[in-house]
Amino acid sequence: MVNLKFVPQILDGNRVRDEIKAECRPRVDRVIDHAGRPPGLAVVLVGENPASQVYVRSKTKTAGELGIYNETIAPPANISTDQLLAIVRELNERPEIDGILVQLPLPKQIDEARILLAVAPEKDVDGFHPCNVGLLATGRPGLRPCTPAGIIELLKRYQIPMAGRHAVVVGRSNIVGKPMSMLLLQENATVTICHSRTHDLPGVCRTADILVAAIGRAAMITADFMRAGAVVIDVGMNRVTDRGEAERIFSDARLADFEKRGSLLVGDVNPQDMARVSSAYTPVPGGVGPLTIAMLMRNTIESAERRTGLC
Ligand code: NDP
Repeated sequence: MVNLKFVPQILDGNRVRDEIKAECRPRVDRVIDHAGRPPGLAVVLVGENPASQVYVRSKTKTAGELGIYNETIAPPANISTDQLLAIVRELNERPEIDGILVQLPLPKQIDEARILLAVAPEKDVDGFHPCNVGLLATGRPGLRPCTPAGIIELLKRYQIPMAGRHAVVVGRSNIVGKPMSMLLLQENATVTICHSRTHDLPGVCRTADILVAAIGRAAMITADFMRAGAVVIDVGMNRVTDRGEAERIFSDARLADFEKRGSLLVGDVNPQDMARVSSAYTPVPGGVGPLTIAMLMRNTIESAERRTGLC
């Protein structure tokens, strides 16, 4: 009997990240030739959150590899909103800084919205300022949030058509879900946004040609949420430390990894169901994760090009 089961395509975020980084290098050189200085990125890291420290180190390391000037400003965790505002305003004034990134989350006493609003929109390489959100919503050029912009790059580079297809985005955060939906709409997808109050989430998800999960719940999206042949993008990054949960999610070789490390990184989608039911999917790790930093670099270079009159 002929086996009709198709093999899904793995959407390799590491490969796309490397392509984007390779494209960044000559653009950095062009900025240096034109402006006599490299693009500049300032990262503000408040306090000593270990996860944030890891993220910031990867960002500045990648910037360094690409020849982007970078510096990290690391005020203590007890800094006040006013003191942090003063740091951001000073960075706004510095001509050699093209991108400002305030690493989230901020300590509880800080008014996060006020800080994000204080970043000059033309230096807002995270794309979180309401000005850039408005530019995105109205379909005009501007700095786009890195994770969803990276997903669009991935889909384009794998030639996955978006126009006219039904995209279902689970999650409505300002960082991922909402901008993802806007960007898919801009690519002429028909977009449905779901969240914790959506009725019959599995039923809605099963109508998706492209399903994006940005929820923050390990392996919540199972085969019951997927139409056979859908493209599945798993944004989630959840660390599972409970053995029982790891066993529920994995029945394969990765359980041995759990034994070795005592934890596993799991997306929002059940990895085995995704590999069995989808036509293409992003693995965790190695799918969406690598794209975010690459897009941050691209945003920093774009900002430098605009600020130095190159485009
Ligand atoms: P948020 O917590 O800000 O948002 C989660 C969203 O999921 C909310 O809109 C929430 O709905 C929705 N949600 C939560 N539970 C359910 C449920 N049971 N059913 C339906 N919807 C639900 O998370 P983020 O958007 O910041 O991040 C989402 C995931 O993506 C996380 O795992 C995060 O680690 C990961 N991430 C990965 C990045 C990468 O580079 N790969 C970058 C950024 C995030 P409601 O609004 O109703 O509460």
